[in-house]
Amino acid sequence: MHPSYVRQHHATEIFHALRQTPQMSKREISEAVGCDKTTVSAILKRFEELGLVRREMAESRGRGRPSEVFALSQKNGLLIGTHLEFDQAVIVAAGIDGQRLARVDMPLPRRPEDFATDLRNAIFSLCASLDRDISEIRCVGITLPGLVQTDGALAHSSSLDWYDVDAKGLLREMIGAPIHIDNDTNAAMLAEHLFGECAHLEDFVYLDSVVGLGGGIFMDGHPYRGRKGFAGEIGHLKVVPDGRTCGCGASGCLSAYLSQRALIQKIRKFEPVDSIGDVLSLAASGNRNVLRILNNSGRYLGLALSDITNVLNPAAVVLAGHLARLWPYLEAQTRQVFEENAMSASFADTEILISDLSLAEIPAGGVALALEGFSSLDGQDAPPW
Ligand SMILES: [Zn+2]
Repeated sequence: MHPSYVRQHHATEIFHALRQTPQMSKREISEAVGCDKTTVSAILKRFEELGLVRREMAESRGRGRPSEVFALSQKNGLLIGTHLEFDQAVIVAAGIDGQRLARVDMPLPRRPEDFATDLRNAIFSLCASLDRDISEIRCVGITLPGLVQTDGALAHSSSLDWYDVDAKGLLREMIGAPIHIDNDTNAAMLAEHLFGECAHLEDFVYLDSVVGLGGGIFMDGHPYRGRKGFAGEIGHLKVVPDGRTCGCGASGCLSAYLSQRALIQKIRKFEPVDSIGDVLSLAASGNRNVLRILNNSGRYLGLALSDITNVLNPAAVVLAGHLARLWPYLEAQTRQVFEENAMSASFADTEILISDLSLAEIPAGGVALALEGFSSLDGQDAPPW
């Protein structure tokens, strides 16, 4: 491996170590990333030149006397995350450590060209509200509900009614900072790895439900994208031969039994419900029809988890969005069917984790994309160190 690549690799590791554990001494950093103190000193000096870290005196862990420690700067550098939803965009500002600072919402215009202008204006006002300058923006991450190609061009979003839009080209010109775009579920999965339940896991599967049912595969420390970036569509695993018709046009997909839309449609035959909130209230009151339908959906989720586990042997499956909310009513059937159908060796390895991060008020996916884009050695833009 080329020495400069090794140094870059250490720098990236030190950046993330300081992100996860602020206020570390040189010795602690050296132990955490496994490189010598001379290398750590040289990299910290470079970080200081770039305004990425600050020195301070603090009581270092395990020692009485104050000593010199390092932390990521809170003043120099911003990451922007943008979440495009059905009819609105949520724009989030975060420090370079990924800590989310504020959000602003804006209506989503129909034309992508108008979106670029509106987004630029919203980012300006968000920075102004934090008394920060837009020149501090290091990277912008944008999540889209749809299929996004690996080069960041939008392939298809039926919920936005956008087709073949070169979103990256359009926005980069307007915003003037590196831009990273991905599918909303892949972004949420990355957030789980950077900030959430899966911070120390290299292999996990993510299943998220907002309106539809999205999925993602995280493999060997990275999102697995497949040939063109369309991998991980776990919502379209077939769980019932010739079953209900799915939004994708096929029949018997997991999404046709577990997506928000599918659940509401099924429950409406018995009860007047408009949202998952209504479903939760009825389930909490012990409504038999609702509990039966959720029990049945839990069965299909268990089948899907067993297929995923048999194929991929992940360390965990993360359930996010409304799946996390509904979990108390899905859990019994899901666990039973999962255990009955998964191969016992893989089943024993796979933990089911419920995502709190996906329910947070300020969404984390866009910031995760920005942080990854800013700090990854594998991205299109080299990190600043
Ligand atoms: Zn489908």
